[in-house]
Amino acid sequence: MRLENKVAVITGASSGIGRETAILFGREGAKVVLVDINDAGGEESLEMVKAAGGEGIYVHADQSKAAEVEAMVQQVEQTYGKLDVLFNNAGISHAEDDDALSTSEEVWDLTFDINVKGVFLCCKYGIPALRRAGGGSIINTASFVAHLGAATPQLAYTASKGAVLSMTRELATIHARENIRVNALCPGPLRTELLMKYLDTPEKKNRRLVHVPMGRFGEAEEIAKAVLYLASDDSSFVTGSSFMVDGGITAAYVTPE
Ligand code: NAD
Repeated sequence: MRLENKVAVITGASSGIGRETAILFGREGAKVVLVDINDAGGEESLEMVKAAGGEGIYVHADQSKAAEVEAMVQQVEQTYGKLDVLFNNAGISHAEDDDALSTSEEVWDLTFDINVKGVFLCCKYGIPALRRAGGGSIINTASFVAHLGAATPQLAYTASKGAVLSMTRELATIHARENIRVNALCPGPLRTELLMKYLDTPEKKNRRLVHVPMGRFGEAEEIAKAVLYLASDDSSFVTGSSFMVDGGITAAYVTPE
């Protein structure tokens, strides 16, 4: 098992990438701490972790609120004695996020509070715990949109993921000699709730798919396998990377017919 004796926090664990990663981490021997604001979804994910033979707890915490993140990390150390893996994955894509002219300040601020400040706060309170454990691995979920601009705009979301990517590089550099690795995971378009509620017609789905060389949306399970690699010692010389798991979208200029 690739995460035996490891304690892993996963934010955004009530659905999508976070849920599938929690199940996989549990199977690989980790003690999994599922963090979210959707308690019903979180408890359901925890049941799925246990049904797959894993062990874990669910903790309610809004990652944009310092006090809640600090209390969550305390609970992790009280329950399991340490923290080894921090998967800062929770994020939102707001329905009213658009171009610069149409996006409201409220949507911009909410997106940055959760997607950017949330990652910062998890690092602020999580890194001291990783240090106490002798090191560890941080994975921040960015996106392929940190690398590419789209004519179907979500300006706040796109900018927030660029911020996650640049924050990751600096964190990786600062903490490299403390045995703490920090990588940005950049998923391509996925068949999860977050994207499917935005691409809600066949036309919108096809408009996106035409840019993916593989011609399909990714699955959350496929992202979870990449997170497992970055979390485990298999990636012991990988830090500061922008880890693309995107069906080739960032490689393509023209895609196959
Ligand atoms: P999802 O909507 O299925 O899951 C996101 C989870 O985050 C939800 O359970 C939600 O309740 C939780 N969450 C939202 N705000 C929170 C907060 N303040 N504190 C704690 N939890 C909070 O989405 P997903 O597709 O699994 O996305 C996970 C991550 O992957 C996000 O950061 C997203 O931006 C990123 N991503 C998704 C795609 C895609 O196509 N779906 C592509 C690239 C990147």
